[in-house]
Amino acid sequence: MNPTDQLSLGFDQQEASATPVPLPGGHLGLPDGRSLPMEIRRSRRRTISLQIQAGSLRVSAPTWVPRSEIDRVIESKVRWIARCLDAEEERAANRLEPHEEWCDGAEIRFLGEACRIRLDAGTATIDWNATEGLLRLPLPAHASPDQIRDRVHGWMQAQAEDILRERLELLASAVGLQFQRFSLSSARTRWGSCTSDGHIRLNWRLVQFPLPVIDYVAAHELAHTRAMDHSPGFWDEVEKIMPNYREAKDVIRRARI
Ligand SMILES: [Zn+2]
Repeated sequence: MNPTDQLSLGFDQQEASATPVPLPGGHLGLPDGRSLPMEIRRSRRRTISLQIQAGSLRVSAPTWVPRSEIDRVIESKVRWIARCLDAEEERAANRLEPHEEWCDGAEIRFLGEACRIRLDAGTATIDWNATEGLLRLPLPAHASPDQIRDRVHGWMQAQAEDILRERLELLASAVGLQFQRFSLSSARTRWGSCTSDGHIRLNWRLVQFPLPVIDYVAAHELAHTRAMDHSPGFWDEVEKIMPNYREAKDVIRRARI
């Protein structure tokens, strides 16, 4: 589900008073307790349009529509606004690549935490500081987006090799399951796979998620060493490995690789 984040509403000029009203923005409170910044722009347009962008509401309205009428329109659309905010939050939480381009200051996710990229020609190696949420790359300020992406992806793959293997081994030994082989995959279509002879592959991009999500995918593939289908018996195996897997399963199902 991906609601559009822009609404345009027809408006009947006869209904409104012709008095132009000054337009403070302010904050809009939603019935669920959230509030968001609101900006109202007036122009010579004929309709009122609402747009959710970066967690704030932008209203574009004809110059002659009174503020009370704008408020009435917003009021009638609060549920739509809440849905847009939900969708935006979800997209942000599942973001696998920086929002903007690969540049100094771009934000990525690592183990579920926001992590900002810093270009720092003064450092010799890539340095990740979890407390500061910073990933320092030994690259000059004029590094190209491709260079930055390749360094970050290379670093993540190295991290993935260790972290994913460790989680897989931990879960397997906790329930006495065995797998034959582990390798990283970079498939664009799946998060993990398991062959009938017990070769488990996990997508390196999983390291961008919190550990429970990584664990769910690892548990899923481990369960396939017992059942190759997705029968109720298979899900029983998943639950034995990771009793509270359902929330993580939802996260990964909604995420795009
Ligand atoms: Zn499966």
